[in-house]
Order: sequence, then structure tokens, then C-alpha cells
Amino acid sequence: MNPGPDPNLIVYFGGQFVPLAEARVGILTHALHYGTGVFEGIRAYWDAAAEELYILRPLEHFERWRRNCGILHIDVPLPAAELCALTVELARRNGLRAGLYVRPLAYKCAERIGVSPDDRDAFAVVALPYGEYLHSDQGLHAGVSSWRRVEDNAIPARAKICGAYVNSALAGDEVRRSGFDEAIFLNEDGHVAEGASSNLFMVRDGTLITPPVTDNVLEGITRSSVMEIARRELGLETVQRSIDRSELYICDELFFTGTAVGLAPVVRVDHRPVGGGVIGTLTLRLRQLYLDAAHGLLPAYRKWLLPVYKAHGESPPDAGRLAGTGTG
Ligand code: PMP
Repeated sequence: MNPGPDPNLIVYFGGQFVPLAEARVGILTHALHYGTGVFEGIRAYWDAAAEELYILRPLEHFERWRRNCGILHIDVPLPAAELCALTVELARRNGLRAGLYVRPLAYKCAERIGVSPDDRDAFAVVALPYGEYLHSDQGLHAGVSSWRRVEDNAIPARAKICGAYVNSALAGDEVRRSGFDEAIFLNEDGHVAEGASSNLFMVRDGTLITPPVTDNVLEGITRSSVMEIARRELGLETVQRSIDRSELYICDELFFTGTAVGLAPVVRVDHRPVGGGVIGTLTLRLRQLYLDAAHGLLPAYRKWLLPVYKAHGESPPDAGRLAGTGTG
């Protein structure tokens, strides 16, 4: 059993920096009962040679978070650039010098019975040392879940809405109990949507293909990073079109993308080998480029990185530098 994070870890909660052990919500909290929260997931990569911690695309993550909070009428009172600075402060206060996962969460905080929300909102940011999410070095065996991806007109999949993750939990649990490593969702149309916590790309005859954002998928930031890297480094435009289930069984390469999973190769789907049953060459190239970009090794992608220790605590973090980079 995972012992969980250090209770002395400093987190941002209730407008202040407090130990994790003191960051508590009441049992009647609206979001706990009804799933009325929106979260984010951001990674930071440690570069041991440079002794630097790079937060990957924090501005895009915080902008997505604030926009998606609007779907639930949740107000995050700080602009994205200040949220970037707050995250740097959190990492520094904890002296974190390892890969991190940053979890912002905004939620309906009224403590009462009744599903209709009011305007009482709260938010927290937690930054934890974090390693691999899925052990994908040898490639994953993915299984198509019998659960369908939530529809935009039910709970929008494009936002990281807490309640929608019941859908991901059901699918992930189902396929893991059947011996797979990760789930693939179909949407109600029967087209391939995404993984339980990642987007999906397929390669067919040298063409890189991913479902469009209108097929009930999360508008992934890693998805946009991989598309930009493929275009810029390999001259490959990604085709965004609906994918049939049976294409998963005949494609040449397949991989998941996401903040937590990175770029995770899939070598089997529903007991069928993908391509030759080994990690594809394009997948390997893209994965290496993505990791190099995330670790600050590729100058063209430094625009995505916010260094935590650059100023050695002497001046405020330069979050504004990242303004205007867009999600690509
Ligand atoms: N789809 C789902 C359902 C997810 O939870 C995630 C993880 N945030 C992704 C896709 C990938 O999104 P991103 O690349 O922005 O992390």
C-alpha cells in the first residue's frame, strides 16, 4: 500500500501555505458529494546536470484550468501568471529537487445538503515528488473498455471535471481486472475517444492520426505538444479525424499522451499485436523528443519551461515570460 505523501509537505490551501496535514475539508463539502470541482495536472522535470527543476507548460495548464472552471461557474481569483508564480513558490518552500506532479483543484466548497451549487468556491495547489505513472518502457497492453466516454452534453470530457473521473475510474478498473495495463474509451458514436487519463495517437502508413477535440476527448496539452514536435522536428502534420475501433487492430503504431503518462507506447490492443508487437520507430522518436524538450535540452521548446531555481530565491519567478505561448 502506498503510504501517501509526507504530511509535512507544504501545500497552498485556504489562501495560505500550510502543511498537508492541516489542509482538510468538511464532510458536507459540495464537491465531495457531487463531484463539482475542476482539477489540473502539471509536471515538473528535474535536470540533474543543471540542478534545475522545469515546470512544463504551466501557463497553458492554468489557463485551461481557469477556462474550464467557468463551465461549472467556479471562480479562480488569481490570473494564470500568478498561479505559475505560486507553484514556483510551493516547490521552493518544499525544497523539491526531483520530478514533480502539481495538482491544482478548484471546487464548490459550501458545506450543506443540496445538489444545486452556489457561488462559494475554493482552490488548492499541491506539488508532490512523483515518478512514473504507467510503466510503459516495454510498451503497454491496452484494452477497449465496455464503458463509453462521457458525452459533452452530459459531462464535458474536455474539462477535467472531478465527477467525470468516475467514468475513467470505471474503465481503468474494468480493464485492469481483466489483465490490461490501460483502458481505451469509445464514445457513444462508437469511435475511439481516448485513454482513461490520456489522449491517443495512431500511426497508419506514416500518417499520425488523433481523434478531433469534438469526439469527447480532453483537450490535452501533451497532445498539442506532440503535434507541435511532430510538425516542427519531423515535418509531420497530425491528422485529426475520427478513428474506428478496428483501426486500432490494423494500425502500425499506437501511443497514449498525457501529463502523467508522458508519451506511452502501446504494443498490444485487445490481445492483438500493434504493428510488429514492438514499440514503433515514430513513437520512439517522438517520445525521446518530448522528454528532451521537457528536460530543457531542446532550445526551441524552452518557451514551455518555467525554471524553479533559476533566481536562487533572490528575485520573483519570471512567470510573465511565458505569456502568449498558446497551446499550439
Ligand atoms: N484525457 C484525459 C481523460 C486525461 O485525464 C488527461 C490527463 N490530463 C489527458 C487526456 C491528457 O491531458 P494532458 O496532456 O493535458 O495532461
